[in-house]
Amino acid sequence: MTQVYLPRTLTELWTYLDGEPEALIYTGGTDLLVKMPAENANTAPALICLERLGELRCIRETADSILIGSTTTHAELLRHPLILAQLPVLAQALQTLGSPLIRNMGTIGGNICTASPAGDTLPPLYILEAEVELHSRKAVRILPIREFISGPGKTQLQKGEILSGVAVKKPADYNIHHFEKVGQRKSMACAVASMAALLRLSPSGLIEAARLALGSVGPTVVTATAIDESLIGKKLSLTSLAATAERIRQLVAPIDDVRASADYRRTVSGNLLLRLLDARTQ
Ligand SMILES: Cc1cc2nc3c(=O)[nH]c(=O)nc-3n(C[C@H](O)[C@H](O)[C@H](O)COP(=O)(O)OP(=O)(O)OC[C@H]3O[C@@H](n4cnc5c(N)ncnc54)[C@H](O)[C@@H]3O)c2cc1C
Repeated sequence: MTQVYLPRTLTELWTYLDGEPEALIYTGGTDLLVKMPAENANTAPALICLERLGELRCIRETADSILIGSTTTHAELLRHPLILAQLPVLAQALQTLGSPLIRNMGTIGGNICTASPAGDTLPPLYILEAEVELHSRKAVRILPIREFISGPGKTQLQKGEILSGVAVKKPADYNIHHFEKVGQRKSMACAVASMAALLRLSPSGLIEAARLALGSVGPTVVTATAIDESLIGKKLSLTSLAATAERIRQLVAPIDDVRASADYRRTVSGNLLLRLLDARTQ
């Protein structure tokens, strides 16, 4: 029978990991348990579930950052006033993730560690310049999320390490926070293409700063400083956005899969930029 351990503290976790170094770690299980074939369930390595690790279930504010513990669920994030007020681009993405049931079980740590190009929290976390905190018995290390995720399903997580949290800088200077996802349905659908955007508009309507990130159109989230800079000094108009939309279509590297063709994804990734014309200023 596969053993399942449920540590309540980090000290308990390290003890379980010492005894079961090959154990698979999970939190909500909405990715890992779904992928485990039922017929192998009894021969799988031991499982360590982080769900009850209260010390990693938190949302805290410092002067310039917001820190989110890795076992915080999507539903908890969506209920939290700090996330709603300070990180609307993340809140918008969370609203599109799965269903109420999935948001109650699934966690931000699980979404990051799954490292799917379609992971809904990833484009917002990239433009919020998130840093992940990795914890082992002996050390804590911090990595920018774009270095932590190295490919589809691939991360820099090492044996004996867990993701303990993620920190983002408050994006105080931006007055447009926008996330949009195109899927095969309006809910319970993985992204065919998605875009997270932060823009700062001057009182006269000129774009002073821009950060864009695209999901599901490359092996990892796609960002490009040249694309962001091409918007600066422009009005938020169809003409200026159409030129950048074309550059986005040339930049992305989508694949054909069961959900959409690469060509469709390429077209949609540019079209998502045009949706900024309808974005509300905060
Ligand atoms: C029906 C359904 C619909 C879904 N819809 C969406 C969707 O719309 N958008 C979307 O982005 N995702 C979706 N998902 C995927 C999933 O729900 C999310 O990725 C969720 O955030 C995963 O979190 P979790 O805690 O359940 O991860 P788990 O399944 O517990 O873990 C996922 C991976 O991360 C690792 N892991 C988890 N926590 C840690 C940690 N703290 N430290 C180290 N490693 C860790 C595990 O080893 C595993 O490899 C869906 C899943 C299902 C079943």
